[in-house]
Amino acid sequence: MTFDVDVIRAQFPILSREINGRPIAYLDNAASAQKPQAVIDALTRQMSHSYANVHRGLHTMANETTEAYEGARAKVAAFLGAPKPNNIVFTKGATEALNLAAYGLAHEIKPGDEIIISQMEHHSNIVPWHFLRERYGAVIKFIPVTEAGELDLEAFKSLLSVKTKIVSVVHMSNVLGTINPVKQMGEWAHAAGAIFIVDGTQAAVHMPIDVLDLDVDLFCMTGHKLYGPSGIGALYGKADMLSRMQPFNGGGEMIEDVYEDRVTYNDPPHKFEAGTPPILQAIGLGAAIDWYRQFDPQDIHLHEMAVYHHALDGLRSINSFRLIGDAKEKGSVLAFNLEGAHAHDVAQILDKYGIAVRAGQHCTQPLMESRGIHSTARASFGIYNTLDEADRLIEGVKKAATFLS
Ligand SMILES: *Cc1c(COP(=O)(O)O)cnc(C)c1O
Repeated sequence: MTFDVDVIRAQFPILSREINGRPIAYLDNAASAQKPQAVIDALTRQMSHSYANVHRGLHTMANETTEAYEGARAKVAAFLGAPKPNNIVFTKGATEALNLAAYGLAHEIKPGDEIIISQMEHHSNIVPWHFLRERYGAVIKFIPVTEAGELDLEAFKSLLSVKTKIVSVVHMSNVLGTINPVKQMGEWAHAAGAIFIVDGTQAAVHMPIDVLDLDVDLFCMTGHKLYGPSGIGALYGKADMLSRMQPFNGGGEMIEDVYEDRVTYNDPPHKFEAGTPPILQAIGLGAAIDWYRQFDPQDIHLHEMAVYHHALDGLRSINSFRLIGDAKEKGSVLAFNLEGAHAHDVAQILDKYGIAVRAGQHCTQPLMESRGIHSTARASFGIYNTLDEADRLIEGVKKAATFLS
């Protein structure tokens, strides 16, 4: 399908909304993205035509719903380049996927074992590893981030040793926009004998993913940033990794047999999906992936980066403008500050003009601290954003700069 942003926008009912008397310019896609009609319709269709619990019934709608749910798993697998649907565990988001990874591997951690993450991680790829530090004596090492916003790869190599048990890094930063060389990093991590985990939450939205080519052991993504529903995400795992991992929730469906004195588990991925899963959300994610895959990823990338560069060029003419994150390889995330102004004030002024950006720490407190800042404003561009919206951002920030100086 040819890439026409007006045609794409027309598929998002919410984008015709007005905020404070202006058409919404939704530039907060790194926090969560809006949903196309195809996803809304898929959910409505499932709820109004065929709905039941999955994996249990023998009746028609139970079978249909199970097929739709397992079909969504196959779509996620194909989207990530996973060999089989069973490499995909549904979770409620990327945060739960990373917590499952940490919990699932905790039994292999001994005091003094090292876990390497980076200073640009989202809290969801930091706090679960702190649990292993607090509970099992793991030692967390941080890969430093350079002034430009890139990982210091020499420092990473020198952190790797026989003590390294796990390396877990973000593929694309939700603040700096940096795209990290995870394939290369995974080779180094594996050479040191470590398990290699990638937080692909942002990357999965902005670039094609091939988990086999990247050779990652575990990879997480989330539905709500990929134009799908909230409440659904996925953990990809190599088959042997998922077998090694211990389950995190116990209950129905995740077991093979339950006796008074013992229990045996179902095979992965079901071992990790206790209870009634987020059935509708998973089906909605499948619909979002179908919708998204009709476009050429290169077209999406070129479009988003054109909007990003257009916005950045205009913003650079503002004296107090400071870009946070200027990596050579980056996606369409534009974090910035106006010198002397608080990011929250900038975001509030922009909202008056109908422009939605985020302001704060973006769940990356160690990154903020490493750069000696408390917060940033952040515009993040998605598939439906336009050059006109970039112009409105520039105008809005100019007004904020005048007002707040
Ligand atoms: C949003 C985000 C997360 C958390 O994802 P949820 O699905 O909201 O739990 C983790 N890592 C990165 C890089 C993110 O941008």
